[in-house]
Amino acid sequence: MNALSQALMPSFFKEQEARRYMDSDRDFIDDGWIEHLLEQSRHPDRSRIREILARALSLVRLEPAETAALLQIDDADLWPEVFETAREIKNKVYGPRIVTFAPLYCSNLCTNSCLYCGFRRENGSASRRRLSIDEVRRETEALVQQGHKRLVVVYGEHPTSSIDYQCETIEAIYKTRVGHGEIRRVNVNAAPLSISDYRRLKEVGIGTFQVFQETYHHETYRKVHPRGKKADYDWRLYALHRAQEAGIDDVAIGALFGLYDWRFEVIGLLLHAIDLERKFGGVGPHTISFPRLEPAAGAPIQPGAAHAVSDEDFKRLVAVLRCSVPYTGLIITAREPAEIRRDVINVGCTQTDASSRIGIGAYAEDYGEQQSRRQQFMLGDTRDLDEVVRDLAEMGYLTSFCTAGYRCGRTGVHFMSLARSGNVHRFCIPNAILTFKEYLVDFASDETRAVGEKLIEKHIRETVLQPLRPHVRKRLAEIENGKRDIWF
Ligand code: SAM
Ligand code: SF4
Repeated sequence: MNALSQALMPSFFKEQEARRYMDSDRDFIDDGWIEHLLEQSRHPDRSRIREILARALSLVRLEPAETAALLQIDDADLWPEVFETAREIKNKVYGPRIVTFAPLYCSNLCTNSCLYCGFRRENGSASRRRLSIDEVRRETEALVQQGHKRLVVVYGEHPTSSIDYQCETIEAIYKTRVGHGEIRRVNVNAAPLSISDYRRLKEVGIGTFQVFQETYHHETYRKVHPRGKKADYDWRLYALHRAQEAGIDDVAIGALFGLYDWRFEVIGLLLHAIDLERKFGGVGPHTISFPRLEPAAGAPIQPGAAHAVSDEDFKRLVAVLRCSVPYTGLIITAREPAEIRRDVINVGCTQTDASSRIGIGAYAEDYGEQQSRRQQFMLGDTRDLDEVVRDLAEMGYLTSFCTAGYRCGRTGVHFMSLARSGNVHRFCIPNAILTFKEYLVDFASDETRAVGEKLIEKHIRETVLQPLRPHVRKRLAEIENGKRDIWF
């Protein structure tokens, strides 16, 4: 569907697409029920918490009442047990790897009025731009030259970011090559689409489609999205149901923490995951994001308001999510400073961005202090990819640039069944090692390479399954000899 026909899309059809997944004409977020559940779950007793943690360790998805009990823990000495459980779950399901990507902002033109965002239409101080296809290529080249293999492309909601523009930019990214480098997976963060538009994105080969509900609390949602298409809560809530129906089986949910009570939002995320699982053959979201509100130029809502989430609560919410949805990736972004990122990676995050610039055209062109006028909000971690990779390696984590799973069809229901049978380890750890090695050979500084090579050796000896070790070593030698893009 092109920009014009999308704008003219009869509201009847839009209404049908928004409502077709509802049960008895109601969406799956019952605010009163969630508030009541949280109220009822206050002061959980220690033995119940330990039972829930034991169930979480058996890698089942928790029920809302169990998650609510974890969220309401008030014995300070029980939280370390939750953190430890989250760490163990992460190790069992994902092993010692962190998938790394970079965001590529293609346009900051937006017709919405989200009160927290620097791209809102009323922000007259923002300098607005949509990248040309040539500029998208130059941004991609700059990212490839740093060693990135995975991107998330980001668009504002605007007729100029039509589905045609989205497809063209994604195709241009996939075609860009620099020496040994190329982008192998493009994920998308954009406004909700119709089923027919999602099909077009599927055809150009996107990985995951992300839509963050921002807040699951209806009244708060209405207040912070006063105008524009984004004011329609249900169109957004069912965005990823439509994506699934269009065949995009890796979908990603998220909430912007700081708009409403963090415990409420965690239950909202869980209910969202459960509804997707129920309606799409057990396939829940591929990842969950939990950005915390950051300062944004020209935004009426700034961090620090009534629902600000403290660092301690942030770590708790990540650990509770890890315990609640063991097979869903958790993304921590460069909105958070390095120390917080280290902390939450240890309690369950599986993906992170690095070297991120969120201004339009900011990778190819350095525009220093003009930054805040071109970007959506301020970042907490501006380290380059090499520093992040080294830091993660010093913590014992392999940086994975792997995209094999998605290119071999290990997505959606296939990914879930592999994950549940513990087979992710068979593929994902060796593949993380191979893509990490490629990065070390092609892009790393001497210092990072030294730390990284030691880590690879350690994981071959301690983590890779015995029968696979010779095969991993053989492929590592092939990479040293110039072969690229090999996987299990
Ligand atoms: N325009 C599309 C949308 O709103 O879904 C996609 C891109 S939007 C630029 C990506 C995400 O950035 C939003 O979903 C929101 O969660 C997050 N965001 C917006 N303002 C933010 C802020 N001040 N601090 C942190 N994250 C923010
Ligand atoms: Fe536009 Fe997205 Fe920012 Fe809202 S969050 S103003 S929709 S770019």
